[in-house]
Amino acid sequence: MTLKRHEQRRLHALHETGLLDTPPEERFDRLTRIAKQHYQVDTTLFTLIDAKRQWFKSKQNLGMDTTPRRHAFCTHTIQQNSIYIVEDAANDPLFYKNPLVTSAPFIRFYAGIPLRDPTGFKIGTLCLIDSAPRDASHMDFSILRSLAAILEEELEREHLNAANQEKKRLLSEAINIDSLTKLPNRHLLNELFQDELNAARDRRGSLSVCFLDLDGFKAINDLKGHAIGDEVLRCVADRLRSAVRHHDVTARLSGDEFVIILRDVEHARIYRHILDQLRHPMHLQGHVIELSASMGITRFPSDDSDSDLLLRHADQAMYTAKETGKNCYHFFDLESHHSQQERFAIGEQVQHALDNDQLELFYQPQLHYKTGIVSGFECLIRWHHPSGKLVYPGRFLPYIEHTKLDIELGKQVINQAVSTLETFQVRDLPYTISINLSPSHFLNDEFLDHLNNTLSRYDMAFRKRLTLEILESTALDDAGLAASNIKACQALGVQLSLDDFGTGYASLSYLRKFSTNEIKIDRSFILGMLDDPEDEMIVEAIVALSKSFNRRVIAEGIEDRATEEKLIAMGCDIGQGFFYSPALPLDEALDWADCYARP
Ligand code: C2E
Ligand code: CA
Ligand code: CA
Repeated sequence: MTLKRHEQRRLHALHETGLLDTPPEERFDRLTRIAKQHYQVDTTLFTLIDAKRQWFKSKQNLGMDTTPRRHAFCTHTIQQNSIYIVEDAANDPLFYKNPLVTSAPFIRFYAGIPLRDPTGFKIGTLCLIDSAPRDASHMDFSILRSLAAILEEELEREHLNAANQEKKRLLSEAINIDSLTKLPNRHLLNELFQDELNAARDRRGSLSVCFLDLDGFKAINDLKGHAIGDEVLRCVADRLRSAVRHHDVTARLSGDEFVIILRDVEHARIYRHILDQLRHPMHLQGHVIELSASMGITRFPSDDSDSDLLLRHADQAMYTAKETGKNCYHFFDLESHHSQQERFAIGEQVQHALDNDQLELFYQPQLHYKTGIVSGFECLIRWHHPSGKLVYPGRFLPYIEHTKLDIELGKQVINQAVSTLETFQVRDLPYTISINLSPSHFLNDEFLDHLNNTLSRYDMAFRKRLTLEILESTALDDAGLAASNIKACQALGVQLSLDDFGTGYASLSYLRKFSTNEIKIDRSFILGMLDDPEDEMIVEAIVALSKSFNRRVIAEGIEDRATEEKLIAMGCDIGQGFFYSPALPLDEALDWADCYARP
């Protein structure tokens, strides 16, 4: 490709992103904010290099929105494949006369990393700017690289969404729509389902595949006639459509069978909500029709099957819902389904990972609001897969649940956390550490002995800095044992936290029954609280309750300042989330905390 042709294509790719001249967005701003905070520079930018100008989609601390391309440092960056650094622009033959150097913003130091659009063109940069020169040989750019990678993922997601939208529009015009209900039919469902699966894999999200079958529809058809039957189906379609979010897929498979694919469900109440929508009487041509439905659900990626199999699993679960008495939902029983062999294969890989030190704890900082400093970290496990990818726990922990491996891994996590605490002690760092424990590990016979042995060498002050996070659902397995283990752990001197609080069915009674030191509000409420007044109320209530029960309360999943401010106003003690930092390797987390503490 000639240079000119390449540049034309590059510009085309840039315009395709649809980002130029759009307002600032928090999802990008939080990344430039983290970069500014981490590197302690005057200015950070997410720039897009247009034909004649560079334009800033996100900027921290800069007055202008755009500069001529011929002056832009970033023009040089997109010629590179990695970081482009100018240590001192005033002494650089290429830049010393540049108006951005000789006048505001008086750039001296510059470091930029090229950003690629999903098709591979370098469309812009993520860069750091400072008015003082710097020696870059001592700087670690790994955070900048990670932030650039997150930003590119964000672009990728956008790209997929745009492609999805277009696909949805084109297909809906043609043969893929069910003429009676105007919902996608089986054929279109297959396509949309595949897209949803790909997108969910990319964003490491989840899908709930719901298979619905109306209860007693045949009787309505037989008794009231087909015309009414058709009306009922149309009405059901409308209600289903409005019960879910616009990006969720609702389709009619055949007869009175419907399929709904929900993205990233964090709350089981949506399933009940869908069924409840169908319970309202329908007034059709002078008839009042009452109806219910049975629903089977399977969840990707815990159920990591292909789309056909996922549908079959949901269908199977729907039959169980019918058998259990209709007007209810039932989850596909993965546990009994996952063939022994498959579990075995993944188990073996995790065992191999354990034996070969491929598992590493990452540390996500926790901010103590009253003092404004980092009080500690939550350990989140990561798998350095031989393929070179970093694998998140959602992809492998479910497969080893309730196995010996689960317990072995849990022990290693405890050992690792204790050894990190020891490092803290040696280096005179005041931080606490929280670790996650699986229910079967926490309720295992040998758990207390192991914890006791591991801690025997340490005094109470040391032990107090370790927090064990247990899930509310732990209690479902054995509430009595859970309560007594909590007490036993506290007697050993460690702290207990009730994780994902608010998602269970009996949160309130657990709050009373389990005397944990800390309550950790589930991130689904925090993520939703700016848009959903109900979520905000729940958070406020949990904070107030925790206070009255004299528990420390921590919020996770904070992604922006507005949420932070609300939480502080409510009296929340500690906050954690991408707004501050994702989980990082230990050294980087400590560096981060070190920078954060500085005024
Ligand atoms: P969790 O305990 O609820 O951990 C918090 C999860 O939320 C983490 O995902 C974290 O990366 C993510 N997160 C943190 N801040 C934000 C934010 O601002 N926005 C959003 N959207 N997400 C945020 P991760 O690391 O993938 O862990 C997933 C789950 O895996 C954890 O949920 C925990 O239940 C489990 N897990 C992780 N490490 C361990 C471990 O060592 N042992 C056990 N048993 N379970 C673990
Ligand atoms: Ca946790
Ligand atoms: Ca949690």
